[in-house]
Amino acid sequence: MKSMKSCKHATELMSLQHERKLNFAEHSWLTTHLALCAHCRRCKKQFDLLSKTCEERRNVLDSAQEGEPQHFEEETK
Ligand SMILES: [Zn+2]
Repeated sequence: MKSMKSCKHATELMSLQHERKLNFAEHSWLTTHLALCAHCRRCKKQFDLLSKTCEERRNVLDSAQEGEPQHFEEETK
């Protein structure tokens, strides 16, 4: 049986996951749903990728704020 409602709930939990830790019930519900639902597995991949990209961008911004000198290579010939 397919339920759009549980997919919506799964998406909510996936985004919530990045703000706080899911409790045991939420986590096991999500794990079970992901095992059954290919659509939500794909969503989760996107979510993970997105948060990873955000983190990397934040790291780049942090080092840029420290005023690190740009890397120039002089070619002498
Ligand atoms: Zn689903």
